[in-house]
Amino acid sequence: MEAIDQLKKDVLAANQELPKLGLVLYSWGNVSGIDRKRGIVVIKPVGIPYSQLTPDIMSVTDLKGNILSGPHNPSVDLPIHLELYHRFLEISAITHTHSTYATMWAQAQCAIPCYGTTHADYFYGEVPCTRSYKMEDTGPEFEAVTGKMIAEIFQNRDPLKVPGVLVADHGPFTWGDNPWDAVHKSAVLEEIAKVALGSLQLNPAKQSVPQFLLDRHFLRKHGENAYFENDDLGEKNG
Ligand SMILES: [Zn+2]
Repeated sequence: MEAIDQLKKDVLAANQELPKLGLVLYSWGNVSGIDRKRGIVVIKPVGIPYSQLTPDIMSVTDLKGNILSGPHNPSVDLPIHLELYHRFLEISAITHTHSTYATMWAQAQCAIPCYGTTHADYFYGEVPCTRSYKMEDTGPEFEAVTGKMIAEIFQNRDPLKVPGVLVADHGPFTWGDNPWDAVHKSAVLEEIAKVALGSLQLNPAKQSVPQFLLDRHFLRKHGENAYFENDDLGEKNG
């Protein structure tokens, strides 16, 4: 049970990072984490302000969404998180926000092209946007359908190389190795979305960076021949 207690604390603290980083208003966002060995997911309970979260009230569920502990209902986005945990076996935590710039791109239903090296350090190519919703998507399985829409657009993508997505007309989801990592990716995605919009405003003919530059930046941090630590980014990126 100790491991679950630690996961609850980590997911709680990661949720509390969202307002500190300016990624959410009110309770418009959530972080979850999974213990794959035990098949247990911890997620923010619905509607509770981040400041009032305690380890005891974090929602704990199995992979089918059955509540194992916690006095409140889990976030309504739980089925999206579960769908992604089923589809992307390599990920261990998920963050969802309605952060302003990423949500602008999502509402415009535009993927974010890789316009520079900050983007290329984290995402190997564009941040994709799902298809738009159809009327038949909006039944009782609405949230699970959203998860399936994300999985659809990742059929030919590696979720470890592209650790985030925009859900059309909704907002961003990101994922990572642990709750902190998933939140980190959300903060980076928001910054990338902001800078990409500015780049387009200054130069409407702006193109994605060439493949060789994308390769150089992404592959120095990820994959077999990576030589670049995350912590180096602030000092050496440029
Ligand atoms: Zn949402």
